[in-house]
Amino acid sequence: MMNRRTFVKNTGLVTGIGASTGLSFLNFLFKQEGYQMMPLRNNVGIFTERGGTIGWMASKDGIVVVDSQFKDQAEHLMTEIKKISDRQIDLLINTHHHGDHTGGNIAFKGLVKQVAAHENSKANQERTVKDLSTTILPDTTYASGKWSKKVGDETMSMHYFGAGHTNGDSVVHFENANIVHMGDLLFNRRPPFIDKSAGANIASWTNVLDQTYSTFDDDTLFVYGHSGEGYDIRGTRADLMAFKNYLEKSLEYVKKGIDSGKTKESLGEAMEIPGAPEWKGSQARTVAAAYTELFEEGK
Ligand SMILES: [Zn+2]
Ligand SMILES: [Zn+2]
Repeated sequence: MMNRRTFVKNTGLVTGIGASTGLSFLNFLFKQEGYQMMPLRNNVGIFTERGGTIGWMASKDGIVVVDSQFKDQAEHLMTEIKKISDRQIDLLINTHHHGDHTGGNIAFKGLVKQVAAHENSKANQERTVKDLSTTILPDTTYASGKWSKKVGDETMSMHYFGAGHTNGDSVVHFENANIVHMGDLLFNRRPPFIDKSAGANIASWTNVLDQTYSTFDDDTLFVYGHSGEGYDIRGTRADLMAFKNYLEKSLEYVKKGIDSGKTKESLGEAMEIPGAPEWKGSQARTVAAAYTELFEEGK
């Protein structure tokens, strides 16, 4: 049987709970408890436990964290990063304001030099967090186009392509590693949350995916906030076009259904959208958002 060291080397996977509590290797392998710290390319990797996937870059010359899950998870991440580098965290980026991506911001209080996000993400966070002493807000925002900053041997950039999952989602690029964190702009084979209360727009979202597709290339490794059962939170830009197809087919399904006399409620009972069967599960939220967009907004 492989020992733990061999396994770690082979998979590039480090698990926190196994390392810190001395759980046996078999427990680690089969129970998959705790968190996972997975290096991807260069000094860049991902962290998963509870909430939207975290991206990180850690070396002796710089530390960047993209999204923060919740407080406990952010602390687990920092424990692992300290093993790589004991420098202060240079930059925290929030892809957008939702609690499963910013809930851990508070764990960075006093420990991070700069917090950055799109200006709408900051406004949404200010509007939705009841007690602002329970979080830290971005101190750096941008409104359009691209924001960049060099950290260590990596250049971080945020791109804003318009409204999608909310009105404040950034596409975050680790330029040298050529890894893109999509935040919740891509739900990999899982019906998405479309946050109309924060300016989400399905038609604009398809355009965001087009622009993202043409900005990056076939070598780009993409990371997603969430994925469906059995699907990876990593992928390639082909996933962008598959998800764009899901969004387009959703608008089409609701338009045709309503035009032929069906109700929003009956359409929402579907467990898949015709023409996009990989996004399995309740379509009620997607149908409701598409209905709002097609028949209520701007009227
Ligand atoms: Zn999320
Ligand atoms: Zn979200």
